[in-house]
Amino acid sequence: MIRLAAFLVASSLGAQTIAITNVNVVDVPAGAIVQGQTVVITGDRITALGPTSSTRPPAQAHVIDGTGRYLMPGLWDMHVHLRSNPVDRDRRLVDENAATLELFLAHGVVGVREMGGDLHEHVLRWRDEIAAGKRGGPRILTAGRKLDGAVPSWPGSISTMSAADAREAVKQMKKDGADFIKIYYNEVEPPIFRAVLDEAHAQGLKVTGHLPRNLTLAAAVEAGLDGMEHGMYLRTPKPEVWESYLAEGRQRTKDGIAADGPESTRRQMYLHDAAEAARLYPRLAARPFWVTPTLMVEARVRYEISERKFDADPRKLFFDPAIWASWDPETGRRRPPTGAALDALKRSARQVRELTRQAHKAGVPLLAGTDCGVSNNYVMPGWSMHEELAMMVEAGLTPAEVLRTATSNAARWRGAEATEGAVAQGMKADLLLLRANPLTAIGATRELETLILGGRLFSRSQLDAMLNAAARRIEQSKAR
Ligand SMILES: [Zn+2]
Repeated sequence: MIRLAAFLVASSLGAQTIAITNVNVVDVPAGAIVQGQTVVITGDRITALGPTSSTRPPAQAHVIDGTGRYLMPGLWDMHVHLRSNPVDRDRRLVDENAATLELFLAHGVVGVREMGGDLHEHVLRWRDEIAAGKRGGPRILTAGRKLDGAVPSWPGSISTMSAADAREAVKQMKKDGADFIKIYYNEVEPPIFRAVLDEAHAQGLKVTGHLPRNLTLAAAVEAGLDGMEHGMYLRTPKPEVWESYLAEGRQRTKDGIAADGPESTRRQMYLHDAAEAARLYPRLAARPFWVTPTLMVEARVRYEISERKFDADPRKLFFDPAIWASWDPETGRRRPPTGAALDALKRSARQVRELTRQAHKAGVPLLAGTDCGVSNNYVMPGWSMHEELAMMVEAGLTPAEVLRTATSNAARWRGAEATEGAVAQGMKADLLLLRANPLTAIGATRELETLILGGRLFSRSQLDAMLNAAARRIEQSKAR
């Protein structure tokens, strides 16, 4: 109840008409700034937009002087997790996860695509409460749970051992309210894979997730997979090499001499065939096949945890100690690599950035996703969105191209591009007013002055109050 009250107070300027005058509108699709605009917001929509000289704010409007400010669509983090810690199954971390929701808002993240986990019944409820204005947080799309094989990698996943199982699971997920289907098969029998895709599409759901090891990207796309998570799966071996690599892997597992992570990574880097990729990527673009490269998690959990201490990180204040412990290599799920393994994982992350750039050049639509949440070391709800955007620029995309992955592309993925993901008349008023131009330097997305969420206004001081309240709650819970 306390949380709800804080959110409602923070958005007390709720349903009124807002006019932002003389503002620089960031036309993300065009990659251009339109100067000197007045943007009128009525209810949750942009109802008028035009030059300030000729666009008069309505008499009753709350007027914001946008001089020197930049107005862009709100950001969507298209890969997040709300889940408990598999290392500490006694604590579900339900309230602790719920408390991270406002952290997204405070960083301009107006929507998240939650990739499924063991808190699904809570996540589905939070989604509905947020949509109804009863809880503070970003709009949520969720897979609910993940589909996996006989021995799931994560708690909460549904095992599917046959094509019939897979169809039932998809139907059940749809009934539970899933917005899409997430797969996490290590290996999958083709009939099961086809059943998942067929049933999901019959239910009107897209399927995305990890690429099963026994399927090449080409085969998965051919079968109808709608997208995938993590740029490492952009590696494209020649099919005939892949077959023998797979056979070797299976035999070595039987013989008890399976390759460890770094060794598998080295092999996959080596097997990547640039010519094959150059043929495949345009086919991904034509489908379209959606790729969420998750570049920063690739760096952070694979090698940065070996090189960087986060103990003194100021963001520690905002997270429950149990969540922080899931990120600490001493107490969490992932161990930091050392020596030759560290070097291999660094080179791998560099290759993933390069493949992401190539896929983008070929026209493959990308989505910005951080993979933030419990167990993914120091990938932090809200903050990490900006780290991911910066890393995509580092990978070779322009700031405008990167902004599209978190705004207009995210809207296209949701099938909402007609009404969301841009600053234009008739669009939903999920907007960020920034102090600097994000087309010049992507870091400007961190310079959030005002958030407008469904037409509700959150000033910088209200967003700071939200953050301070979060830190205070953590402090109080530690004292208890
Ligand atoms: Zn993930």
